[in-house]
Amino acid sequence: MAPHPRNRRGVSRRQVLKSGAAALSGSAALLAGATPDAQNARAPAVLTGAQTGRTFRGLVRHDTTLDVQELRLLPIDPRQVVIRSQAVAPCYTIVRGALGTSPIRRAEVPNHCGFGVVEAAGPMVKRVQVGDRIVVAGTSQCGQCYQCLQGRPDYCQFTFFSNAPGVEAFPPFAELRDGTRVYAQAGIGGLSEIMTVFEEYCVPIFSDVPAAELTLLGDQLASGFAAGHAEMHFQPGSDVVIFGAGPVGLGAIQAGRVTGAGQVIAIDPIKYRREFALKMGATLVLDPVAEGDGLVERVRELCRGPSDRRFAGGVSWGRAGNAVMARGADFVVEAAGLQAFPPKTEAQPDPTNVKTVQQAWDCARMGGHVMLMGLTLQPVSFPGASLALLGRTIHPGQQGGLHAMRDIPRYVKLIEKGALDAKSMITKRYTLADSRQAVQDTADRTIITGVIEFA
Ligand SMILES: [Zn+2]
Ligand SMILES: [Zn+2]
Repeated sequence: MAPHPRNRRGVSRRQVLKSGAAALSGSAALLAGATPDAQNARAPAVLTGAQTGRTFRGLVRHDTTLDVQELRLLPIDPRQVVIRSQAVAPCYTIVRGALGTSPIRRAEVPNHCGFGVVEAAGPMVKRVQVGDRIVVAGTSQCGQCYQCLQGRPDYCQFTFFSNAPGVEAFPPFAELRDGTRVYAQAGIGGLSEIMTVFEEYCVPIFSDVPAAELTLLGDQLASGFAAGHAEMHFQPGSDVVIFGAGPVGLGAIQAGRVTGAGQVIAIDPIKYRREFALKMGATLVLDPVAEGDGLVERVRELCRGPSDRRFAGGVSWGRAGNAVMARGADFVVEAAGLQAFPPKTEAQPDPTNVKTVQQAWDCARMGGHVMLMGLTLQPVSFPGASLALLGRTIHPGQQGGLHAMRDIPRYVKLIEKGALDAKSMITKRYTLADSRQAVQDTADRTIITGVIEFA
């Protein structure tokens, strides 16, 4: 892939760093005559009053419908930011709720990530300024909660407290023509022309990489890529196995390529996704349906190394039982997840994902690492002895261990230098008018990632 062209509009990199996207777009702050230095010196503009009541369109799930509707913006919280959306990718985790036909009373704009430009910021906002280009990440990084202070912003309590049952942490952000209040899913939404989000979810981006690519860093691509380095650390030359070659798994496959893994084995029942995985860095692909119950043993064989000689670093020497447990991948990422919607492509062998999680565990060598990223709702059992004795480490896959404020700017640099391929991950583009179809195609698994671009 070609390196991303920089500064295509003749703006120096230093200027971008200094003044944010206003320098690129000629928007708000610069048009108002504020110099970058003056902008840095003063508090962010407060346009809350002017923003309230403005109308915009968004995809709304309400009653039995999912339609594009006209919305009216409500007043924002002092720590919230008004963002004009530029691009958003629907996440597979929303499809069951969004496309469901059971009546729901709470009107909601689906999704939990996005990308856009800041148009207004509440008086207490410090992280972003008007005109900034913003990745809205699915997980906040407040920097002050206990989890953030322990070095685990992937579990920032701002996100997890906000999602607690019975807690209405996020106020409705808009209303329909009939006055029905509209919420943003997870306090973010994304499938609307305007988002209002708390600043803890905002990651300012000082780059001119296109919005359609940057929006992938709010959720799926960033999560998958983070799996390879943020929490687990793929080693050069190591054996990596990825279950699922969707938008998340392909991020992990790219991490395998970028970190120089020796083998990147991708497992997916969908033929076009296996072919896509090979283009993104997989060194070998397997169909779990064709492999059947022999899948784990096949992976172990692929990871047995070049020699069985005991004194030459061989893996499989010794008694048969030990030899089997010694073989396997150094790193396994389970990014398949349950089947939330009947696909129009090949179906996965276990729609509940339970068996896939167990296979992922079994594919790791003694002392290996397993990250569980896909959603599995049913209990999963593991043999107690292997849990206790095999030395495998299970890593939680919440956004792949992503530290939004640390990692997303790094990934932007990787896109700029052509190391991380975001552009190829976008296999279909939509407008807001056909955003419902984007959600449907995501559910059908007929696309890798669909991006809705706002006019
Ligand atoms: Zn998601
Ligand atoms: Zn936090």
